[in-house]
Amino acid sequence: MARAPEDVHPQKAFGWAARDSSGVLSPFHFSRRATGEQDVTFKVLYVGICHSDLHYVKNEWGSSDFISANYPAVPGHEIVGVVTEVGTKVQKFKVGYKVGVGCMVGSCRSCDNCGNNLENYCPKMLLTYGSTYYDGTPTYGGYSDIMVVDEHFAVHVPENMALDATAPLLCAGITVYSPLRYYGLDKPGLTVGVVGLGGLGHMAVKFAKALGVKVTVISTSANKKDEAVNRLGADFFLVSRDPEQMQAATGTLDGIIDTVSAPHPLLPLISLLKTEGKLITVGAPDKPHELPVFPLIMGRKMVGGSGIGGMKETQEMIDFAAKHDIKADIEVIPMDYVNTAMERVHKADVRYRFVIDIGNTLKAT
Ligand SMILES: [Zn+2]
Ligand SMILES: [Zn+2]
Repeated sequence: MARAPEDVHPQKAFGWAARDSSGVLSPFHFSRRATGEQDVTFKVLYVGICHSDLHYVKNEWGSSDFISANYPAVPGHEIVGVVTEVGTKVQKFKVGYKVGVGCMVGSCRSCDNCGNNLENYCPKMLLTYGSTYYDGTPTYGGYSDIMVVDEHFAVHVPENMALDATAPLLCAGITVYSPLRYYGLDKPGLTVGVVGLGGLGHMAVKFAKALGVKVTVISTSANKKDEAVNRLGADFFLVSRDPEQMQAATGTLDGIIDTVSAPHPLLPLISLLKTEGKLITVGAPDKPHELPVFPLIMGRKMVGGSGIGGMKETQEMIDFAAKHDIKADIEVIPMDYVNTAMERVHKADVRYRFVIDIGNTLKAT
């Protein structure tokens, strides 16, 4: 007979899990592995609610080969906490250090990608939740009281950072920071478009501004203009449904970070690019985009993708955020609000990230 989740490993853990594709979360007793030589164990303090968490608990990616839910499913990959135990060979952390864990907890450490600090593109990358760890047990995410992670997949969170508003950087932050850097959209004097003003988009505006580029927010709703320009500091705002505005902005952007995961036409965005402009997609629609090639040829433009970032770059992003005081805009919630929060995430009714106050509100039952 299979052992119960709480008896698999020696460290008792408690969190909230979905039991089936309804996605409804409820209290769950399970266990974490003993702290290995290269592991850190930490007390989770805050975890962000990423849209991926919602897809995962409802098993909406079940038909793809990306990730399928393994119930009970504990989501959460925007995690910050404080180290409570370190393995004998751990070098980066000591007990009491603030720590962050994002979307991945393992990779092969020997392929070309891993050798180039691109563990995020390792074919054997292990996700924080929904993967099977090296010991054969499922990985459980951060909607839980403790985590155990190989120190290589943990980042150091500087003491001056607000832990709650830092949590979303571990997924949303690195997802937009990495393409700004890799595609060279990080030079003062450039103008970069940000499509969609949600969890990812608002982070893209903040990082791009801190890198010194001008930012044009492109949104379907005109009522986000005040927010984008006056509060987040965007330089320009375009309503994508207004053909006149879009026409007037033709050829004005060096690059675009497209965060929208609902299907949408790419041609109007490609038209906004200058010659050699780059349209970078980080949102993942469930249906393929239609890609008009002629406008790419006439202007040597490109469409690219990007997925989170490697561990070295994730630490760089956190340090950059600490230096420039970049935080996510968050609504802090108690654990037992999570199912309502999930419904609101589904409706995009949040500015711009829910963060669960695990440390103060997750109570074992
Ligand atoms: Zn995420
Ligand atoms: Zn690898």
